[in-house]
Amino acid sequence: MEEDHENRESSKTNKGLLQTDELYQYILETSVYPREAEPLKEIRDATANHPRRLMATAPDAGLLLSLLLKLVDAKNTIEIGVFTGYSLLLTALSIPADGKSDKEDSFDYVYVDADKDNYGNYHERLMKLVRVGGIIIYDNTLWGGTVALPKSIVPEHRTYHREHIIEFNKLLSNDPRIQISQIPLGDGVTICRRIY
Ligand code: CA
Repeated sequence: MEEDHENRESSKTNKGLLQTDELYQYILETSVYPREAEPLKEIRDATANHPRRLMATAPDAGLLLSLLLKLVDAKNTIEIGVFTGYSLLLTALSIPADGKSDKEDSFDYVYVDADKDNYGNYHERLMKLVRVGGIIIYDNTLWGGTVALPKSIVPEHRTYHREHIIEFNKLLSNDPRIQISQIPLGDGVTICRRIY
């Protein structure tokens, strides 16, 4: 039983939450790697053997973030909780070199990949900083798929943040100020667009 969960955890590192490794490889080889900017590729290679590599942004999720930056014409952005700089660099590569501002209602795009027990707090702050029509993206909102597992079989090291992520997903779902879409990319990504 324990071994099953170990396997489940380790296979997640390869293919996110998709059903098969083959399908994930197909996506990477067809539409991710050929479109990944060279500096991002180098960072991915350099961090491939890092013990905390699971905290880095998945390359397929990276392309989605890059697309979203363009769609909202992001000029003022914030990134909360940078691990290797992969996603920070992604942001820098995808937006014009305009000045930044920390005024309320002024941010177009925020990416959050930080302490999961503070996501709720970040969300309240960010709803003031992001303009109407701007987006906030939260990473790891499916927490290795454990959000849908019975608590009794969730690996010990996953239980604490699992609780916070479950509460956070409910909070977003109940927040009338945002439009949301939760995507099973990487470890789960939730995109929120501020409506008012
Ligand atoms: Ca993450």
